[in-house]
Amino acid sequence: MIPIAEPLLAWYTRHGRHDLPWRQTRDPYPLWLAEIMLQQTRVESVKPYYTRFLQTLPAWRALAAAPQDQVLALWSGLGYYTRARNAQRAAQVVMASFAGHFPDTLEKAVTLPGVGRSTAAAVLASAYGQRQAILDANARRVLIRSHAIDADPKATATQQWLWTLASALTPEDAHGYNQAIQDLGAMICTPRQPRCPDCPLASRCKAHAQGRSHALPVTAHKPPKPQRHTFFLLAADPEGRILLEKRPDSGIWGGLWCLPQAAPDGGELSILCNDTLPPLEDTPAVRQFLQEAWSRRLRLDLQLLALAEEQQHVFTHFQLRFRCAHARVLDSAVADSAATLRWYHPADALTQGLPTPIRRILRNLGGGR
Ligand code: SF4
Repeated sequence: MIPIAEPLLAWYTRHGRHDLPWRQTRDPYPLWLAEIMLQQTRVESVKPYYTRFLQTLPAWRALAAAPQDQVLALWSGLGYYTRARNAQRAAQVVMASFAGHFPDTLEKAVTLPGVGRSTAAAVLASAYGQRQAILDANARRVLIRSHAIDADPKATATQQWLWTLASALTPEDAHGYNQAIQDLGAMICTPRQPRCPDCPLASRCKAHAQGRSHALPVTAHKPPKPQRHTFFLLAADPEGRILLEKRPDSGIWGGLWCLPQAAPDGGELSILCNDTLPPLEDTPAVRQFLQEAWSRRLRLDLQLLALAEEQQHVFTHFQLRFRCAHARVLDSAVADSAATLRWYHPADALTQGLPTPIRRILRNLGGGR
């Protein structure tokens, strides 16, 4: 085991990102919120969302009691919306089971929805001064390289070993050390371009000594992402309002407002095309299929006008290819499903929780924001 705490803390004192907004507090609520938002998301992307979220919902109680639509609207554009739904459920558990306080042990903290061991440890170390080790992506990369660990980082045995290592290396000042190792991973020991000459661990790092900094961590070969196809309906009524449909609470884009697809789905974006309907082609048969499917499902008298150019959106586990079907609706009375179907002026639609590609489509209509 290579002692890294001392040089890391010295480097952090001089070069760390002390001005990050969530580092100006020891209050568990904003610390926890930042940890959730930072999962799989870059610091610069998180900053405006973090600030706006805290201004609107500044405490556990406010988040627990907020309408889900409001929470999703504040999260809209940040992606990975399960985090937002779990965050609200976690706030409700904190209020109901922990008297409005973040739990003070690792065992209790990981019972909160969306809170894993590393997230819990980061909050406990910073808010309560506990000696708790973290193992987020940055810390994991630094440990793997400094100790030249060749094993698959996703393997259970490797993860157990990394946790043992992280726990042993974490000093009493876990708050400072955790921030230091996160910053080193984000600023120096980066995934693709590690800056070893600038690194405070260079003299003791095994990967650097072996000339293998770029080769670690080892990555398993990733197969290409599967593709899915869908059509979205951009239906305008005589007042210029757009029809949005609320997606199921769980699954892809859960709980967000979306342009209607031609068929409802159980949370996964459906593949509409089959043997008789070629993927995303603009043919009379496709247009007829879409017009009939939407008219029947939404009980609307609509006239399909045009199919827009194909667009793409990349999810973690698949790539979505889609086209937007522009349509005119003569009678905008939606017969039922009022809870899940609503007409919005484009500018109002943009204040709702929307998936990023849908927001882009509506912005291009001139909806503002
Ligand atoms: S010396 Fe290079 S590989 Fe080793 S921890 Fe520093 S940046 Fe990472």
